[in-house]
Amino acid sequence: MAKTLFAIFGNPVSHSKSPLMHNLAFQGLSYNGCYARFRLEEGEKLKETFFTLGLKGINITVPHKEHAYQACDVLDPFAKKVGAVNTIVEKEGKLYGYNTDAPGFLKAISEFDDVKTVLFLGAGGTAQSTSSILRDEGYKVTLINRSEGRLEKFKESGFDTYTFENFEPNVYDLVINMTSAGLEDESLPAPKEILDAVIPEAKACVDVIYGKETPFLKLAKSYRKPVKDGSDMLLYQGIIAFEYFTEQQFTFNEIRSYMQKAFIL
Ligand code: NDP
Repeated sequence: MAKTLFAIFGNPVSHSKSPLMHNLAFQGLSYNGCYARFRLEEGEKLKETFFTLGLKGINITVPHKEHAYQACDVLDPFAKKVGAVNTIVEKEGKLYGYNTDAPGFLKAISEFDDVKTVLFLGAGGTAQSTSSILRDEGYKVTLINRSEGRLEKFKESGFDTYTFENFEPNVYDLVINMTSAGLEDESLPAPKEILDAVIPEAKACVDVIYGKETPFLKLAKSYRKPVKDGSDMLLYQGIIAFEYFTEQQFTFNEIRSYMQKAFIL
């Protein structure tokens, strides 16, 4: 029987761990599926490419999450609310869109006890979906960003927002790097004076970047803070996407037992 095909669309996409994660789970759970990577240059062609390749489902990474949102015929209410889709499943010729980044992130930080206040460094697309789910779960989220423009929609939604220039330090249980600073360079996500003011007061520090120790996490460690990188977020968003791909045939823990092997290979 022909395999059911899945893929990740992005640009670049060569670094993605998703093919390994999903193929390990397909194999381990004896699901007749195959997951590939596809470098999509023009986001406008997402839907056309999906059908040309004969896919059942995709994950979408930078820079196409908004195009993915546009391409869907049916949107899950949370994806609709945050305007970003990272998982699409085809059912009877229609594309159904979901956001699994945010619940994946929520689960990743749920290991920290007694956390109520969170400072986000950064206000991009990932901050948008994760701030929304955290607020729904009762966390108080404050954002600080390098440029003022990106903060507008957060301010309109009622979040406390600051630029580097007008920031007033406070006590935050978690300080989280939501920027791409440190991903391909060695920069900190905010001026060091600001980080030196908030990190010592925090219970722990989290980075959404995975696969390397960023300057932000190095600084947090120098203050002897518990730290966590973006690996669990990546794993958990993948497990939730896999649940959609396979129509809830497997439990979270069953999928995790195979998918997590991608992080030790
Ligand atoms: P966006 O491009 O939407 O936003 C980027 C953000 O980073 C902006 O707030 C931008 O600020 C800020 N920024 C970039 N460079 C710097 C810098 N040198 N100093 C200070 N601020 C900076 O990106 P995303 O929200 O899509 O992604 C953010 C991060 O999340 C990435 O590192 C990505 O890899 C990671 N990620 C991890 C996932 C996981 O599963 N672990 C899943 C999804 C994303 P400004 O407005 O001033 O430009």
